[in-house]
Amino acid sequence: MSDTALVWFRRDLRLHDHEALTEAAAADRVVPVYAFDPRAYGSSEFGGGDSFRYEKTGGFRARFRRESVADLRDSLRDRGADLVVREGPTEHVVAAVADHVDADTVHFHTWPCPEEAGAEAAVREALRGLDGRVDTRRYWGHTLYHINDLPSDYRNVADTYTAFRTSVESDASVRPPLGIPDLPPLPDDAPAPGDVPTPADLGVDDPATDDRGVLPFEGGESAALDRIERYLWDEDRLREYKETRNGMLGQGYSSKLSPWLNEGCLSPRYVHDEVDRYEDLRVSNESTYWLVFELLWRDFYQFQFAKHGATFFDLGGIRGRTDIDWRDPAADDAAARAFERWAAGETGIPFVDANMRELNRTGYMSNRGRQVVASFLANNLRVDWRRGAAHFETRLVDYDPASNYGNWAYVAGVGNDSRDRYFNVVKQARNYDGAADYVTHWLPELDPLSPEYAHEPWKLSSREQAEHGVELGIDYPEPVVDLERSYEKLR
Ligand SMILES: Cc1cc2nc3c(=O)[nH]c(=O)nc-3n(C[C@H](O)[C@H](O)[C@H](O)COP(=O)(O)OP(=O)(O)OC[C@H]3O[C@@H](n4cnc5c(N)ncnc54)[C@H](O)[C@@H]3O)c2cc1C
Repeated sequence: MSDTALVWFRRDLRLHDHEALTEAAAADRVVPVYAFDPRAYGSSEFGGGDSFRYEKTGGFRARFRRESVADLRDSLRDRGADLVVREGPTEHVVAAVADHVDADTVHFHTWPCPEEAGAEAAVREALRGLDGRVDTRRYWGHTLYHINDLPSDYRNVADTYTAFRTSVESDASVRPPLGIPDLPPLPDDAPAPGDVPTPADLGVDDPATDDRGVLPFEGGESAALDRIERYLWDEDRLREYKETRNGMLGQGYSSKLSPWLNEGCLSPRYVHDEVDRYEDLRVSNESTYWLVFELLWRDFYQFQFAKHGATFFDLGGIRGRTDIDWRDPAADDAAARAFERWAAGETGIPFVDANMRELNRTGYMSNRGRQVVASFLANNLRVDWRRGAAHFETRLVDYDPASNYGNWAYVAGVGNDSRDRYFNVVKQARNYDGAADYVTHWLPELDPLSPEYAHEPWKLSSREQAEHGVELGIDYPEPVVDLERSYEKLR
């Protein structure tokens, strides 16, 4: 008797190094499926109902995802297969297709975050409704180190990055990436493939492209592999990654792989393999190692979420801190206004505003920028850090729950760092944007100012403001907070 396997694609929109697809390909028939679940788009309650509403997936990620799904479909079609695409609750879609093709097994990847786990539980439940006819097989496939290869059980993984990194580096190894399997055909009665919805179909605005962005991020495995080709091989940038990675302008200062890694168009093990190849063929130095070092931060947060789960979304974080007096925008008008100004890039602190405007216009922000704007909201403004994290969740083209909430919690002092640290915004601006090129790229209204004043326009006298044509409160906002006084409270 022939057997039929269904592959439920999620944030693993690729053919290379895809264990669920590879295992499913051993069946006589394979049906790849993707569901655009309406619950992932539009307005949602944060944390299950008690706090605030926000938009889960904004236009940049919705567009990137659509392109990724379309690219996956093209690649499957090139191999004689196809991708069944539906809009609807994931569990209904997967169960309906499994029922239609009389599937024996549903293969899928798993993630350690609560929503992903909830979707998985709902799919299993819906499949149980098919009279126990369908088995499920799940795989771990989005980190560099496989969860089963960690030196200790994931529940005992170290809570500090350095301890985690040194333990995996000394006592674990990265599995080689899997190749693309030969795919068996679709069953004769396969359902119609269906259309890939546009962001507008999902109720999300398709944002305009801003040419000032670092890269016109295009979704899909093909574009991901092109990015590796360009960054590593054509432009030979990996050899200087450690020195350039804190840059802020242009496509070349860092790898820009995050959107593809997070929608699963790119496997981190493939990147690791390419770094090895680069080290063999070009050069092996601190920079080549550093890309893997950064990918280990990504792993760290994935395993942290596996260990601590939903406590990462608590105000007091995994440390259960209750000693910080967070301001809640729902209960405090001044906090609400401060948050709105932060989110819109209208704080009157140029380095913060430039970064927020880049995020809002392009869906991307450098790592340096993310650290500074997060620290500013959480430490200088003391606004509930989860508001900021949720704004990032909406806007980021590379959003991942573990990387986003894990990093936010870290910066806010409630995560994996026991020290209370904050960034001095102006110092950061001077160090990383000495000539104010980045700030004026996103805030052209500050162009007439010298770099010193472009970073601290509040230091201009009224006469100087008039002379330069940059009047605070008219051409550019007054600062939302007295920076120096806000640091004093933190010392
Ligand atoms: C407040 C805050 C929120 C963040 N939210 C996200 C998020 O939602 N998704 C996301 O992928 N990254 C997030 N990061 C981490 C980091 O800023 C981005 O991964 C990085 O800027 C992406 O650009 P890149 O691919 O060029 O990075 P590169 O510098 O080229 O790094 C290579 C890869 O390493 C990983 N990486 C690097 N730094 C980190 C880090 N601190 N944590 C986790 N992974 C890392 C990413 O996968 C990245 O693509 C966040 C950082 C902060 C401070």
